[in-house]
Amino acid sequence: MKEGVLEKLKILAESAKYDVSCSSSGTTRRNRSGTLGNAAGWGICHSFTEDGRCVSLLKIMLTNYCVYDCAYCINRRSNDIRRATFSVSELVELTVEFYRRNYIEGLFLSSGVVRSPDYTMERMVRVAQDLRTVHRFGGYIHLKSIPGASRELVDRAGLYADRLSVNVEIPTEHNLKRLAPEKDHESVFRPMQFIQQGVLASAEERRRFPHAPRFAPAGQSTQMIVGATDETDRQILTLSSDLYRRPGMKRVYYSGFVPVNSYDSRLPSLGQVPLVREHRLYQADWLMRFYGFRADEIADDVHPCLDLEIDPKLAWALRHPEAFPVDVNRADYAMILRVPGIGVKSAALIVSSRRHGRVTASVLKKMGVVMKKAQYFITCGELPLRSVQDLRPEYVRRVLTARTAGRRLPDENQLSLPFPEKS
Ligand code: SF4
Repeated sequence: MKEGVLEKLKILAESAKYDVSCSSSGTTRRNRSGTLGNAAGWGICHSFTEDGRCVSLLKIMLTNYCVYDCAYCINRRSNDIRRATFSVSELVELTVEFYRRNYIEGLFLSSGVVRSPDYTMERMVRVAQDLRTVHRFGGYIHLKSIPGASRELVDRAGLYADRLSVNVEIPTEHNLKRLAPEKDHESVFRPMQFIQQGVLASAEERRRFPHAPRFAPAGQSTQMIVGATDETDRQILTLSSDLYRRPGMKRVYYSGFVPVNSYDSRLPSLGQVPLVREHRLYQADWLMRFYGFRADEIADDVHPCLDLEIDPKLAWALRHPEAFPVDVNRADYAMILRVPGIGVKSAALIVSSRRHGRVTASVLKKMGVVMKKAQYFITCGELPLRSVQDLRPEYVRRVLTARTAGRRLPDENQLSLPFPEKS
């Protein structure tokens, strides 16, 4: 590899590392004779670093020059950092070279904004177009659409990329304007809408003409920065839930705010990245997508922020002891899913296996149910243990958090007597 390209690679890979929305699932493309590589939902290995970032793609920026000055971004115009720009051909060759050497399964391409959103987007689209049409590249491509890009360019991007994303960054418009004065929600949500319309139009066209080209077959994703502004988890989850209702929206990523510009007084001064909060938001997101929870059930006006000590499903169960215990031999699938310690797979197993006989505690264990948690929320006709209603939610919470923290368990039979203090 040429010295100059290597230098650019170092600079631009470093600049790209703060974007977490690069998971690569959801599309398949078989290798055909005369083409290079393939993409498969299961074949592309996701490799995540300890902080949750995907490393199986070449995650790179086209350029880290930017005419915008977003307060939370390392690449902002006013930062004195090393800058570089790839030409379209350099980036295409690099991707093909890395793919051939088996370093990567695909490309995640983002960029700072140079000259204008359309000028930048046009170069990004050319990278994807050259890879597909000149090099017959069949690997995975994720393009991060530039806020404010025109419909024509988004439409072209969707023909070559597997996934497109536009980052919301900051959940509320007034905070976005405060930290990123050159952006607004319109510039983010319009390209998102173009992608949606492209996905719907392509699905319709393929119904009539099965060989019509697919538009962004892995849909779109977005990312929100958590902790840079004062939005509550309720606000964040409400927005995510709205986004998931849009056709083609596959994932919302939550990125704990990293204070890369600590001198900016508009940003909070953090000792540590709020990773636990990020983790709880991912759990809540999971509950909305796979467990049938609504955003307002997970965080409401009384509890606008997620409990950082316990997971959101357990938190909901402890706030609703009246819904338990759930009889696993009678309850419907939706209610079984709400039991802490029971996942999607075990809930389905419970429902299917009870057609053949009673589900007992030992059967539940074999199915993978986490009985340490579930025991307080279920009955199966044989469990002698008392439920969350008998024991009270505060006690169950103390038991379960003591277990994870390795603390001594409180004894529910032990009376606590208020001895007078010695004088
Ligand atoms: S537009 Fe993107 S690259 Fe430019 S400063 Fe804002 S977040 Fe950073």
